[in-house]
Amino acid sequence: MNAQEFIQTRRDGGRHSQADLEAFAIQVAKGGIPDYQIAAWLMAAFLNPLDEEQTVWLTQGMARSGETLDLTGLPHPWVDKHSTGGVGDKTTLVILPLLASLGLTAVKMSGRGLGITGGTVDKLASIPGFRMDMSPAELKAQAAEIGLAIAGQTANLAPADKVLYSLRDATATVASIPLIVSSILSKKLAGGAEELVLDVKCGSGAFMKTRGEAQELAQWLVRIAGDCGLPTVAALTDMDQPLGRMVGNALEVHEALDLLQGSPHSPQFEELVVRLAGITLHFAGLAESEEAGTEAAKQALHSGRAAAKADQWIRAQTQGMHGIESARSALPVAPHVKLVHATRSGYVARVNAGEVGRVVVALGGGRQKKEDEVDLAVGVEVLLGVGDQVNAGQPSMAVHARTDAEANDVVDRLANAIEVVDGPIPANPVILEVIR
Ligand code: URA
Repeated sequence: MNAQEFIQTRRDGGRHSQADLEAFAIQVAKGGIPDYQIAAWLMAAFLNPLDEEQTVWLTQGMARSGETLDLTGLPHPWVDKHSTGGVGDKTTLVILPLLASLGLTAVKMSGRGLGITGGTVDKLASIPGFRMDMSPAELKAQAAEIGLAIAGQTANLAPADKVLYSLRDATATVASIPLIVSSILSKKLAGGAEELVLDVKCGSGAFMKTRGEAQELAQWLVRIAGDCGLPTVAALTDMDQPLGRMVGNALEVHEALDLLQGSPHSPQFEELVVRLAGITLHFAGLAESEEAGTEAAKQALHSGRAAAKADQWIRAQTQGMHGIESARSALPVAPHVKLVHATRSGYVARVNAGEVGRVVVALGGGRQKKEDEVDLAVGVEVLLGVGDQVNAGQPSMAVHARTDAEANDVVDRLANAIEVVDGPIPANPVILEVIR
């Protein structure tokens, strides 16, 4: 593959061959192409997007650009789950133990948070001693033993994506559907699963702000994954308000553990978990319908079966230091909690997820830049949801901050993030549609 000709083909809107796209991915991973040529190709690919067939070839090339996880020998089905990212999205922490408690094998590589969307690696870092730097062999050994392992991205898995993603970030070429799809799916293919469930978030707290954008991304993801041999189902889910009650790393772990142990803070979060699990169980052929799958998921949650699996998982990844109970009591706690109050009576029409996410980043709970440190204890509790009736003066949010001054700084922003109207408002649907 000649890099100059490769760039020229993209610049002129031509078609790359499968061999060239695969060679490009391998060379990118090996450091065989200088950044300026990769960056030039990325801009050309942003302006003249790859078609679906070329996206499949690029995805497969990126997936093969490093190590791949071979789950052979583990009980089927092998499932992976991915969310496109949202505010308060702690779903992985509940749904994977739940699915593993029902016999699925769940091995997942997770990322760190960036911007307003949190990451599972940061959430789990708030449990002292929780190991995320597991090797492929360790992941597989733990999954063989308990059916579940969640680790940070290993450096060698789809390494081409690491290079491409950081250059996309630096060259304003992130928001291109074929590039997003190849980035997400190359890591999933390298992770070795045989079924993938995608949670495509849609709304002010998500990457995709409108239903149309989320639908287009979900349809591409499902089609390209299928063409790459990874059967995938995608749920388009609401991110126009934060998910559940807690936003912030340790706070979200708290909420997830409480749901696992039968004390949900939010019916909306519980509904998302059991319905997404139902969709997964049906898709994997383990339930006759999504409804039957949802019932099985509710049973696993309410009987303590999912909690027992989560307990086993936390023990395994903290080398026995913590189970659920001691993990909860070891979570860091912010020293200052300040309530925000509703300024008028009526019905909640909107809780601006994007603004709540930005406030959590401002409190230190998220990163503006990749190298930023995260304060795991800080965050926001959202005490009202869309459709709730509210009286003036009622607490609407609680800020968990490092200092009183930092809490005071965000009170007005949070008060303005809630819109209250006179007449009743229906609750937001949790799942907008399912794409197979
Ligand atoms: N997540 C990814 O892994 N890659 C993208 O390009 C966007 C979101």
